[in-house]
Amino acid sequence: MFSSLSISRKMASHIVGYPRMGPKRELKFALESFWDGKSSADDLQKVATDLRCSIWKQMADAGIKYIPSNTFSYYDQVLDTTAMLGAVPERYNYTGAEIGFDIYFSMARGNASVPAMEMTKWFDTNYHFIVPELGPNTKFTYSSHKAVSEYKEAKALGIETVPVLIGPVTYLLLSKPAKGVEKSFSPLSLLGNILPIYKEVTAELKAAGASWIQFDEPTLVMDLESHQLEAFTKAYTELESSLSGLNVLIETYFADVPAEAYKTITSLKGISGVGLDLIRGTKTLDLVKSAGFPAGKYLFAGVVDGRNIWANDLASSLSTLQALEAIVGKDKLVVSTSCSLMHTAVDLVNETKLDSEIKSWLAFAAQKVVEVNALAKALAGQKDEAFFSANAAAQSSRKSSPRVTNEEVQKAAAALKGSDHRRVTNVSARLDAQQKKLNLPILPTTTIGSFPQTMDLRRVRREYKANKISEEEYVKAIKEEISKVVKLQEELDIDVLVHGEPERNDMVEYFGEQLSGFAFTVNGWVQSYGSRCVKPPIIYGDVSRPKAMTVFWSKMAQSMTARPMKGMLTGPVTILNWSFVRNDQPRFETCYQIALAIKKEVEDLEAAGIQVIQIDEAALREGLPLRKSEQAFYLDWAVHSFRITNCGVQDTTQIHTHMCYSNFNDIIHSIIGMDADVITIENSRSDEKLLSVFREGVKYGAGIGPGVYDIHSPRIPSTEEIADRINKMLAVLETNILWVNPDCGLKTRKYGEVKPALTNMVSAAKLLRTQL
Ligand code: GLN
Ligand code: ZN
Repeated sequence: MFSSLSISRKMASHIVGYPRMGPKRELKFALESFWDGKSSADDLQKVATDLRCSIWKQMADAGIKYIPSNTFSYYDQVLDTTAMLGAVPERYNYTGAEIGFDIYFSMARGNASVPAMEMTKWFDTNYHFIVPELGPNTKFTYSSHKAVSEYKEAKALGIETVPVLIGPVTYLLLSKPAKGVEKSFSPLSLLGNILPIYKEVTAELKAAGASWIQFDEPTLVMDLESHQLEAFTKAYTELESSLSGLNVLIETYFADVPAEAYKTITSLKGISGVGLDLIRGTKTLDLVKSAGFPAGKYLFAGVVDGRNIWANDLASSLSTLQALEAIVGKDKLVVSTSCSLMHTAVDLVNETKLDSEIKSWLAFAAQKVVEVNALAKALAGQKDEAFFSANAAAQSSRKSSPRVTNEEVQKAAAALKGSDHRRVTNVSARLDAQQKKLNLPILPTTTIGSFPQTMDLRRVRREYKANKISEEEYVKAIKEEISKVVKLQEELDIDVLVHGEPERNDMVEYFGEQLSGFAFTVNGWVQSYGSRCVKPPIIYGDVSRPKAMTVFWSKMAQSMTARPMKGMLTGPVTILNWSFVRNDQPRFETCYQIALAIKKEVEDLEAAGIQVIQIDEAALREGLPLRKSEQAFYLDWAVHSFRITNCGVQDTTQIHTHMCYSNFNDIIHSIIGMDADVITIENSRSDEKLLSVFREGVKYGAGIGPGVYDIHSPRIPSTEEIADRINKMLAVLETNILWVNPDCGLKTRKYGEVKPALTNMVSAAKLLRTQL
């Protein structure tokens, strides 16, 4: 619709990066089929080429001036950089030639004989990258010409692009010492070794005709030490001569650039432009106003949110842009996205089932590209009035829509202020009261919630959703499954049972579908890692709970056994952190609303006779802000939200929570502040880390169940091995607070693995009980 209008003159518009998966996850399916040996490398390459081509064309048609290339990836952009640098860990037997699929996917996923490289979260997003493993002996050679070939590929299509590289300093700051290398080794010390490769790449890009190059340096938004900050000056000073003749953009995202770092990058000599995130960087506009911006340089203003799905408030962005223009000058401001669009969904066009009013409030990557261009044109005096007024109408419909606002919820959330929402009795007294009722042995055994999700189960849920089977048939099938799981646990002699979660597809979706204020997409996928994508729900309005969500199943399960049956809920912080959250009120307000809805569920479960209720907060840590100065505030409202859900229960009702990570050292006091009666945590892959917290003397009085075996692996742990683990924990924790459980839910495992593993877990607990 805009292509014919915009060809004449390209306004100053820029996209930081674009999703690679394709509008219908084409790349995912191509990758998985290739990995399964069902299609050839050529087939995979063909899908990838088509995707790149259509993405470039789409941006060109929209009128974007600075179109990124090399933001496509077969797996991960950090791994692509590792390939470019030839920094392949020794175990992959790399011989030094151009890196092909073989070595590349072995690093990403491991192969029959060698494990994969480690994966970790990309800043505070839900994307995971492959962590480079470096040491003093790592040899760097230019081993993947991907950046150059993608640039040329676009050029052959008649599209001029800005090649994007992960900057050298960010690359090193995200790296870790390779196996066998001293833990104290600093990868940043390799800066001088990798710069020659960057020089080779940039020289080649220059020779191919590139006029701009983008270095992503998002670590600039972190709390850096002065020597880390100096590394930026060192790196770009050293690259200066080889970059001459190229315009260089240093791109930052995910938060404000701290004042010191801002000074550093804006005063770099060989640099033509700096990209800033004005969405997460809420203080960036003020910083530019007060600190100024160097004359002659371009400011790439990230005003279109790359991490959410909301349509931009164009009028408000335009006024931000005008304020910036007054500082940097008319031809030096470029309209951009706040970060790569890979963190948002791909194309709204494919959402045929979304309500049309809600749809009018949204913009996925493809729509954001159009927004960026519309803003750039408006800034240049060619405002598309129709587009702007349609946008203004959508904005105001969103503000005034009755489906967004629920007075009652607003009031209830406002009424929370001023109270801390703590249970009146302290945790040790509560545990005593609970023990009188539950009468559990020492080292009680339990599991985290889900049991294996068989094909049959998935089919039953799918058919019920598609109205292919009746509610009656569905309930019957799920009931049979629950009864099977209950029987199995009784046979295994587990102390506190679960119903197995057979009715749930996903721990957030299940609740989102039953709460008001949530919407679901059909194709709103976002890459999580490799070929894995998630489809976060959209929280668009005030959240409430029209009716009980889990009571029916929990009550049914409890009626099947005399042992305590855990009620199983997902906590407010996890629901929040795994959703696209509304941007018209602070995140904590939305979180409090979810907390109130979960609180009602907790109360209903308690009233239905459920004595143990687990409220999973698997993703509490994921929401932790990047900057230390903002972390205390987040932890405060996150922990508070959790307490809201259960502060009203009786002393005898036992509240459990569960978390999927064990790097607790920095947030242990917040965890204690949650005031749960029992916490189960992932632990088995990092015994030492968790135990060191307690070894250092942190006082912990609540129940705690550090996972005794890794559920991510099909391996079956022996009784001795589990007993050994428990003994290690007993050395630092009081006997009477320790629980015995696996690391996480069992839904991805097979019964053939779960039965023997749990058998051994229970025997280990029993063995130790006789020795204590
Ligand atoms: N109760 C959930 C399960 O067992 C917890 C999942 C999780 O922690 N990610 O599946
Ligand atoms: Zn977990």
